[in-house]
Amino acid sequence: MTDDAIEHRRLIVAGTGIAGLTAAIYAARSNNDPLVLEGDEPGGQLTLTSEVENYPGFPEGLSGPDLINKMKEQASQFGSDLEHGIVTAVEGDERPFRVELRDGTVYTCDAFIAASGASARTLGVPGEDELMGYGVSTCATCDGAFFRGEDMLVVGGGDAAMEEAHFLTKFADTVYIAHRREEFRAEDYWIDKVQKKVESGEIEIMRNTELLELHGSQEDGVDHVTLARNDEGYPSEKLDDEGTETFDFDVGAVFMAIGHTPNTGYLEDTDVELDETGYIVAKGGKGGGQTATDVEGIFGAGDVVDYHYQQAVTAAGMGCKAAIDADEYLEDLPEVEAESEAAAEADD
Ligand code: NAP
Repeated sequence: MTDDAIEHRRLIVAGTGIAGLTAAIYAARSNNDPLVLEGDEPGGQLTLTSEVENYPGFPEGLSGPDLINKMKEQASQFGSDLEHGIVTAVEGDERPFRVELRDGTVYTCDAFIAASGASARTLGVPGEDELMGYGVSTCATCDGAFFRGEDMLVVGGGDAAMEEAHFLTKFADTVYIAHRREEFRAEDYWIDKVQKKVESGEIEIMRNTELLELHGSQEDGVDHVTLARNDEGYPSEKLDDEGTETFDFDVGAVFMAIGHTPNTGYLEDTDVELDETGYIVAKGGKGGGQTATDVEGIFGAGDVVDYHYQQAVTAAGMGCKAAIDADEYLEDLPEVEAESEAAAEADD
């Protein structure tokens, strides 16, 4: 343990989303006494989902927060400690690992599971930062009801955009979906559900359309937005083309549903390989150790690794794998320590 650490733990799990909590359940049951650190988005993205209908075992569906709360209860029941803490740095070349939190607290641990998920992306267009929380949101479930009776714009063409648009019809006058190209990325299931709302006049789709700017104020919220359209798609890249039309459009709220960025900044100074967008490159493949990273003893699970499936059930599966991989690593640890001590002595 380093001098400034308040406690040494056998295993630290960063994240209380579905991957982190599943890892915690398995790790606690393997007597690895996990400390589970809950970040700024407790429970992860599932807590922003109103209805989970595809998690096996719940034919009647359940809400995201209900599922997370049940998993927290299960993790605690087997002995996991859940605490608030934002990991800002992990020192991966030290043993034990040194884990620093934003409030200055330092822990050490023998193994570490990164399950810190991903956060909603934003566009970076003028007006967006200023109006975030004042008419601009990344979570329809959280904020939709505040804009009852308004016209609302959802940006994106994936499952999240379709789900959010569908949900917002409860509150909106009309929901507009602006998608940057012709084809949607979303599953047919969501496209069909949205299509029904298009037919009933509750949703309008604006294909090949991008949001360029938001106008309004923190006092009065969003007043209108500037959009661009080009039939070939990706209009913001073709603003000078004669086929691009730029126009103002009145809406009272804007929901960004353009995907997520993995929360892995705290691993940047370690030897854990991250891809160009920050996702952990885990070992994968067949056999054990699929969640292992380039640093022995650091494992990755859920949306910090998976940019493809990104489902609650796949995150749970990876959390389970990470706990099993960590357990196997921890079982072998005395040998690893003895080997490194012997190597250090040989060097002297
Ligand atoms: P996503 O599948 O990555 O879709 C993001 C969408 O935003 C894409 O349509 C993308 O356009 C668009 N986009 C990205 N950057 C943009 C930009 N700068 N400007 C304009 N548009 C931009 O993300 P997601 O919808 O959040 O879904 C993530 C995962 O969660 C998926 O695996 C999805 O299946 C899952 N999910 C499932 C459900 C459900 O089944 N209940 C609900 C929500 C999410 P392009 O298509 O042109 O790239």
